[in-house]
Amino acid sequence: MGEDEAGQQFVITGRVQGVGFRPWACALARRLGLTGSVWNHPQGVTIHAFGPAAALDALEAALRAPTLSAARVSRVEATPISFERRASFEIAASTSDGAARLSIPPDLAMCDACRRELLDPGDRRFRYPFINCTQCGPRYTICLDAPYDRSRTTMHKFAMCAECAEEYGDAENRRFHAEPNACPACGPRLFAQWADGRTADGDPLCVAAERLRRGEIVALKGLGGFHLACDARNGAAVRRLRERKHRHEKPLAVMVRDLAGVELFAELRPAEEQLLVDAARPIVLLRRRGGEIPAQEVAPGTRRIGVMLPYTPLHELLLGECGFPLVMTSGNRSEEPIAVANEEALTRLGEIADLFLLHDRDIANRCDDSVAQVVAGREMLLRRARGYVPAAIEVPEATRPMLGCGAHLKNAVCVAGNGQAWLSPHIGDLENDESCTAFDGVVADLSRLLRVVPTAAACDMHPDYYATRYADRFAGERRTAVQHHHAHIAAVCAEYGVRGPVIGLAWDGTGYGADGTAWGGEALFVHGAAHEQIATFRALPLAGGEAAIRNVWRIALAALDDAFGGAAGLEGLALFEAVTPREVEAVRTMIARGLHAPRARGVGRYFDAVGALLLAAVRSGFEGQVAARCGELVDEKAPAYPFEVHDESALCEFDLRATFRALAGDLRGGVAAARIASRFHATLVEVAVAMVGLVRERCGAHPVALGGGCFQNVRLTEDICDRLRPGCEVLVPRAVPPGDGGIALGQVLVAALRGEV
Ligand code: ZN
Ligand code: ZN
Ligand code: FE
Repeated sequence: MGEDEAGQQFVITGRVQGVGFRPWACALARRLGLTGSVWNHPQGVTIHAFGPAAALDALEAALRAPTLSAARVSRVEATPISFERRASFEIAASTSDGAARLSIPPDLAMCDACRRELLDPGDRRFRYPFINCTQCGPRYTICLDAPYDRSRTTMHKFAMCAECAEEYGDAENRRFHAEPNACPACGPRLFAQWADGRTADGDPLCVAAERLRRGEIVALKGLGGFHLACDARNGAAVRRLRERKHRHEKPLAVMVRDLAGVELFAELRPAEEQLLVDAARPIVLLRRRGGEIPAQEVAPGTRRIGVMLPYTPLHELLLGECGFPLVMTSGNRSEEPIAVANEEALTRLGEIADLFLLHDRDIANRCDDSVAQVVAGREMLLRRARGYVPAAIEVPEATRPMLGCGAHLKNAVCVAGNGQAWLSPHIGDLENDESCTAFDGVVADLSRLLRVVPTAAACDMHPDYYATRYADRFAGERRTAVQHHHAHIAAVCAEYGVRGPVIGLAWDGTGYGADGTAWGGEALFVHGAAHEQIATFRALPLAGGEAAIRNVWRIALAALDDAFGGAAGLEGLALFEAVTPREVEAVRTMIARGLHAPRARGVGRYFDAVGALLLAAVRSGFEGQVAARCGELVDEKAPAYPFEVHDESALCEFDLRATFRALAGDLRGGVAAARIASRFHATLVEVAVAMVGLVRERCGAHPVALGGGCFQNVRLTEDICDRLRPGCEVLVPRAVPPGDGGIALGQVLVAALRGEV
C-alpha cells in the first residue's frame, strides 16, 4: 500500500438514477487514476474508491457538483473505508434489497445535447420529436411495469433499427441503455388529425402552428397527458379555450421558448431561473411585469403567472415553428382528469380542440405538469407530478405495505413499504366519477409499478370523503384515520426526516376536526404518533357551509357581526352594495338559528372574509381565489392590527374580533386596500409568532413545521420564517406540497408510527 493510498465510500442521494450518473462517475474516477466501483441502490448511488488521498478529494468535490444536466445531488456522505487493491474502476450490478426498492425514474426534460441534434440539419434525428438519451426523455410516463427497461415500457412495440441498437448497446454512447431510444426510421411517428377524425395533410407541426396562429385550439399529446394549446397573445383565442373547457377563472399556464422570452413579461430571480430550466421543468409561478403579452385573459385578476419552458422535443419544435408563447393547459374539461389516449382525447376533447397533434407512443401513466414557486430563495412544490413522481421519500418506519388515501381536494395518494414512500401524481378533486375512477387506477398502477401491495390504509377523519370510504372498502379493519392538520405537519416531518417533537402551524382552508368544527388555524404539538391542539382561531360560522366558501361575502358578514357583537352596520362598505338586504337577512337568520352554519377556524376563511371586504368580491370563482388576491395586495411593512388571546383553558383561542373592528374602521375611513391588506398580513405574522410562543411555553422549544395551503402565500411564509429565525428551526415544505397534495404522505407516517395497521 502506497503511503497516501486510502479508501473512501461515497453515498450520493438526490436525482442520481436514470440520468447517466454511474457512467459519468466511472469515467471521472478512471481519469483521476482511482480504482473501485460504483453501483445503484435504492437510496441512490454508492461508490467505493481507492487511491491517492488527493484524487479521492477531487472525486468528492466533483460528486458534489456533477456536470450532468439532469442530475441533482442532494447529499454526498463520505466515509473512510480500508484500502483494497483493485485492478480498475467498474460499474457494478445494482443491489435491491426487497422487491419494492426497484426504482423507476421520473421523466426528464430534453437535454442540451439532444436539443443540438434536434436542430442540426445534418443529424439523423433532425426535427425528430421523440429524440432522447440517458440524460433526458420519458421514464415514468411510459413505464408499464418494473423494473424499468424497454420491454416493460410503451416503447416495446418499436423495434430499434440497427443504428439505434448500436447506440443502445455501446457503453461509451450517450444512448447506452436509453430505454426509449428511437429515430425517424424506427420510432414513434407524429401526425395531425382534425376534430372530425380526418387526417390533416402536410407537415403536422406546420399545420398546427398555422392553426394556432389563426387563433384556433390544438390538443397535443405531451408526456403525461394531452395539453390544450392556443396563442397566448390572442385574448379571443384564450376566451374561446376557457369557454369550451369550462374553465372560466382559474389561471392558465404559458409555455415560452426560452428564458429571454420569459423575461419580457415576468420578473426572474436566479432561483426562479434555475427552477425553470431544471430537468423536472415544472410550471413556475412568477410575478408578472405588466404589458399586453400574454393576454390578460390568461391569468385574469392576478399579478402572478405560471410559466414553463418546453420539456419535450415536440414542444420545442412547435414553439420554434410558432415563434410566440402558447397557453398550455391540461387536456380535460374543467376538474376532470387529463386525457392520455388518442381515442379518449378525440372523444373527450373533440368539442374543445380544432386540431389534434397525435403520435403513436402510448402514455402508460397519467401525469400532469408540476407547479412550483420560489419561497425564501428555494423551491416549493405546489403540485407534485411530472418530473418528480415517482421519486421515493425515506420513511424507515413504513416497513409494511400501506396506502395513504389523501384528502378530498387536490388529492394524491401515497404508497409505502420497505421503508420508503411514494406520492402519486396529483389526481385532483374527488368530486366527479372520472376523478374517482382515476384515483382507483392510480392506486392499482402505482402498487404494480413499485411492487408494493398495500393491505392497510391511512385516511382522513372525514367520514364522507371518497378517499375515506375507499380506505374502508380497501382495508376494512386495517385502516386508521389521521386528523387532517396532524397529517399536514407529519408530511413536513416526513420530508425532513424529523421524528422528534415539533411545533406545527397547520393553516389551511378546511379540515375535519374532532370537535365538530372545521379546523384550519391550528397550532399543534406533534410528538411521535400523537398530536395536541394547543391553540386555534376563533371559529366563524359558514352560512350554507360550502356555499359560503363560494359566496365569500357571507364569511365577511359573519366576521363583522361577530366582531361587533350583533348586526354590524354595513353602510360605507363597498362589498355590501352588491348584496341585497334580503340576502343579508337570510344569512343572518341562518347563522342565528345555527341552521346549516358549521363553524370553521381556517385561516383561509379569514383571508376570504378580508379579501371579500377589500376587493368588494361577492363570490370566489374557485377555492382560494379571493384569499390569494388578498395576499397579493400586501405591499408594505405595516403595523399589525390588535387581536386577543384567550389562554385560560387548555385550548387557547386567537380572537380577531378587534382586528375586524379596526379593519372596518379603516375601510370606512378610506384607507387604501393595499395598506389594510398589509396590516392584516402583519397581524397574521404576529399571531403565528404568538402561537409558537405559546406552544413553546407549554411544551418546550422544538423546531417549527409549517403545513397547510396558507403557506403557499410566499410573503406570509417568508415573513413568519424571518420572525422565528434565528434561534428557531423552521421547516418549510419544499419537495412535498404544503397543501392537501401532501396529506397522504403525512397519513402514512402517522399510521406507521402508530404501528396499528
Ligand atoms: Zn438527451
Ligand atoms: Zn432507429
Ligand atoms: Fe388542508
